Amino acid sequence: MRRKKNRALLIMIFALILAIFGVTSMIIHKIASNNEIEEARKAAEEAERVQAEEEARAQEKLDRIAEEKSQWYLLLVNEWNAMPDDFDIETAEVEGGYEVDERVKDALKEMLSDCREAGYSPQIISSFRTRSTQQWLYDHTANKSDTAIPGHSEHECGLAADIIDSSSAGWSDPLIEKQQDLPAQQWLMEHCQDYGFILRYPKDKEDVTGIIYEPWHYRYVGKEHAANIMSNGICLEEYLRDMDTYYDPQ
Ligand SMILES: [Zn+2]
Repeated sequence: MRRKKNRALLIMIFALILAIFGVTSMIIHKIASNNEIEEARKAAEEAERVQAEEEARAQEKLDRIAEEKSQWYLLLVNEWNAMPDDFDIETAEVEGGYEVDERVKDALKEMLSDCREAGYSPQIISSFRTRSTQQWLYDHTANKSDTAIPGHSEHECGLAADIIDSSSAGWSDPLIEKQQDLPAQQWLMEHCQDYGFILRYPKDKEDVTGIIYEPWHYRYVGKEHAANIMSNGICLEEYLRDMDTYYDPQ
């Protein structure tokens, strides 16, 4: 009789232990699955935050590029882009009566001076042109395709200069491809970006610029853009078209 009682007690204790174990594991399981849900929710929130940040950064970059593109030193003037109607600049003399935008004068002077100090002999033969000068040139040129239509010449924006090696000053026409072989020209082509200038009409870019190869026409765009353009071997049109590839606004 006593034995039977003990046995019943043992079964009850065992059943109780099983019940406690069962309930505990259910609770643990529940807590674990709640934690998983919470973690998944946090991960999703974090991913959303990262994506929103990336989108904001990309948009900010585009905004800053658009702002940079509208700066005076990146003005695009070519066959397809005329000078703005409200264009207005202050010009200043660089040397020999040749003028450029006053904001470009010092950079151009420095480039010429350093070129001379290196032992070469650069000479400006054209720089800022008024609309009427460009009109006169256009009217009097034999080959109209060699001269920009008035309103479409970079010389009108005061940011460009044609510079030759002075040894070619006596040539019947110094503005020919051979200009690229002269020592002052080679120095300028190698160093122009250090002063914020680019060789505006490179070889093999005629279709993009609309202008023949001109190893004498230098255009100011500022040091950072000049370095980007020259080191990538592209022209201004390509740079402005794909600026997010070549330019990283800091
Ligand atoms: Zn020119």
